[in-house]
Amino acid sequence: MAGEVILEVESLNKAFGGLQATHDVDYEMMTGELSAIIGPNGAGKSTFFNLLTGYHTADSGKIFFKGINITHWPPHKITRLGIARAFQVSNIYPRLTTYENVRQAILAQQKKTINLFTPASRLARRETTELLEITGLSEQSDMVAGNLSQGDKKRLELAIALGSRPELLFLDEPTAGMSGEETHDTMELVKRLNREIGLTILFTEHDMSVVFGYARRLTVLHQGAVIAEGTPEEVRDNEEAQRVYLGEEA
Ligand code: ADP
Ligand code: MG
Repeated sequence: MAGEVILEVESLNKAFGGLQATHDVDYEMMTGELSAIIGPNGAGKSTFFNLLTGYHTADSGKIFFKGINITHWPPHKITRLGIARAFQVSNIYPRLTTYENVRQAILAQQKKTINLFTPASRLARRETTELLEITGLSEQSDMVAGNLSQGDKKRLELAIALGSRPELLFLDEPTAGMSGEETHDTMELVKRLNREIGLTILFTEHDMSVVFGYARRLTVLHQGAVIAEGTPEEVRDNEEAQRVYLGEEA
């Protein structure tokens, strides 16, 4: 339900050797949000996502999803509970077709409901077709995924993430390597998933025009710590945020 806390992070810490990649991070998301985490390269954005999805283990701190303490849970268990992510590093099986990639993702989630007497080719056909339509990949359905354009690969990653039917979606640089038009289309899709399906979404992005155009709340990370948070306008006016990040970009 909108207005309920879906994600709560308390004093999260993660170090790699002597480097504090996540530093005492407190963070909260309400159901229905479309928000962004920004910060310079190496600020700890991907590490934060990795911690939230179980790919890294926190040194200390707690993570609650829908009130359930998921700190130290493995990735597959977190996915099953309703969190998905599209990776900065690709999650795609390059030799399978676009269709097969999406279908695999759906089947992985539906494992228990597979009926032995259903022909394999029919499994998840409707859901797969639907997700390909939503993400604008219907025409590329039979193409081998490795041959897709960069923009289509990103869309396929999104479709794969949606295959697990998440309630909370993390997108790590969803428009990296895209043309202006592809970026626009992808972010419009992200907005539709948020508005029409009610998916709660947190994304990272380098392009400030994209961040300010789509995120309703921003959190600025610097050297692993949150240094500013608020509406895009509030963050734009925040001196600390300007100094470490926005100023550098201008
Ligand atoms: P961002 O996504 O904001 O660019 P990252 O979370 O990728 O930043 O990285 C934060 C810091 O942690 C960087 O200094 C990076 O080199 C370091 N780091 C990230 N992952 C690892 C890892 N697996 N092992 C060692 N250092 C890492
Ligand atoms: Mg990153």
